[in-house]
Amino acid sequence: PTTHNSQTILDGNQLIAKALARFGVDRMFGVVGIPVTSLATRAVSLGVRFIAFHNEQSAGYAASAYGFLTGRPGVLLTVSGPGCVHGLAGLSNAMANAWPMVMISGSCDQKDFGRGDFQELDQIAAVKPFSKFSVKAKSIKEIPDCVFQALAKAGSGRPGGCYLDFPSDVLHQTISESDAESLVAAAERFRELEKVVNVPSSQIEEAVSLLRHAERPLIVFGKGAAFARAEDELGKLVERTGIPFLPTPMGKGLLPDTHELAATAARSLAIGKCDVALVVGARLNWLLHFGEPPKWSKDVKFILVDIDKEEIELRKPHLGLVGDAKLVLEKINKEIKDDPFCLGKSHSWVEAISNKAKDNVVKMEAQLAKEVVPFNFLTPMKIIRDAISGLGSPAPILVSEGANTMDVGRGVLVQTEPRTRLDAGTWGTMGVGLGYCIAAAVASPDRLVVAVEGDSGFGFSAMEVETLVRYQFPVVVIVFNNGGVYGGDRRSPDEISGPYKDDPAPTSFVPSAGYHTLIEAFGGKGYLVGTPEELKSALSESFSARKPAVINVIIDPYAGAESGRLQHKN
Ligand code: ADP
Repeated sequence: PTTHNSQTILDGNQLIAKALARFGVDRMFGVVGIPVTSLATRAVSLGVRFIAFHNEQSAGYAASAYGFLTGRPGVLLTVSGPGCVHGLAGLSNAMANAWPMVMISGSCDQKDFGRGDFQELDQIAAVKPFSKFSVKAKSIKEIPDCVFQALAKAGSGRPGGCYLDFPSDVLHQTISESDAESLVAAAERFRELEKVVNVPSSQIEEAVSLLRHAERPLIVFGKGAAFARAEDELGKLVERTGIPFLPTPMGKGLLPDTHELAATAARSLAIGKCDVALVVGARLNWLLHFGEPPKWSKDVKFILVDIDKEEIELRKPHLGLVGDAKLVLEKINKEIKDDPFCLGKSHSWVEAISNKAKDNVVKMEAQLAKEVVPFNFLTPMKIIRDAISGLGSPAPILVSEGANTMDVGRGVLVQTEPRTRLDAGTWGTMGVGLGYCIAAAVASPDRLVVAVEGDSGFGFSAMEVETLVRYQFPVVVIVFNNGGVYGGDRRSPDEISGPYKDDPAPTSFVPSAGYHTLIEAFGGKGYLVGTPEELKSALSESFSARKPAVINVIIDPYAGAESGRLQHKN
């Protein structure tokens, strides 16, 4: 703060930094420039760690994932106009995944808006489809209320993205420190309300009765349950009742994939034949086939647990419990404890799932046992799986993206701890890899971060390897390099004609690109591998070094299917 006429004076940047720090923000992701550079430095001087990126897109993905991993809103800072537009990638990702995030953008001077000012954009209108709340501070006095409201709203109810707009003239206005102090104190009223479960006990009883009388019950949980930190309650529920469970991709790890009641390897049977499904913190959207036939039985009774009333109203389940997953499950567990039931290993449904899962695992292991060189997707994936499981606890956070790389990885890689998987998610977003890696390293400094991604996914944000090196994050990025999106040039001769027929295929990149040399340009460690021995040695060295590294794994350009497992949508 500067002193003026014996009064301590703060400008808008300082007041924003003060309000953020007072709310409890201690990390920020972003790209500085006009008019927000001073906001970043002011925040740093108040103890906020600022992670500076190359591109707002990656910084935004980082902020969104940070919100998921920590349960507190991830904060993205961008410049005006184009910076805000780039940041929309992260904001939309937070909305689609229901993760708490706040994007803060500077904007042009209010008096010059509408006459072609530098980076002029109606940013409030631009963020509308991608945020649950947005507000512009029109004068310095509005700053604390705006900051507290956005941060509180991002994390309350169904989490999501909120937006804060600070015009450059507001950033330069000044206020006395005592006025600033009283405004910040008054803004405390916006702090998030305590999570309340309003589930009536009759509904808890009904849920338990449905599970108790089901012939083929199933528990499905998703990243909403992960966000709610419901792992202990899920563990108790599964132990007590012996009901098989199925995690969604980012629900994986809440209970270990290796658990004997895990139905992941018998997914089709589990969802196709269950008669009662308790779905906790997971939407019946495309990822769960909308809860409809032919994947699900038409008679399945859904019990949905979700923090969002509208979600329940949308899906019209047999029974909907609106509330926080952890608190609702606590109540369900208590109700069961009073009158226990357990299916037991010899129950025909449990046995059917367990046999099917064992069969599928045996088949998969047989596939994985074949060492294929030049690499297909399975051979390096198995080597990575074994190297990761050799690390024990704390397990690394796994970041995964790419079509084939993510699909194969989801089946092969094992998740044993909660919130240790980040992938393309509900939005099906590619390009999230490096941002997620950085978020994971910032959120969980005790864990190694391992990204397993396709060359196309990596390329979206590959420059952020410099960010990895600059902050010395313990991140190992493994690039499955098959020379393009889905692979190299696979066009048949009859598909290639016209004046640009000699151009590379729209799917293809430079074959055998030297992605590992990219990180070397900044002083990080790069590995080029093409054989099992080379991969094993690169993994063992980079995992123990816990320093930024890129392992460029050359894959057969003909391995991998177009659109991975989503071919029906292509
Ligand atoms: P997945 O992709 O793992 O299937 P989704 O993102 O589709 O998961 O669904 C997550 C759901 O969890 C959302 O509908 C969201 O409203 C809900 N949710 C978020 N936080 C909580 C919470 N604390 N308790 C219960 N449900 C929650």
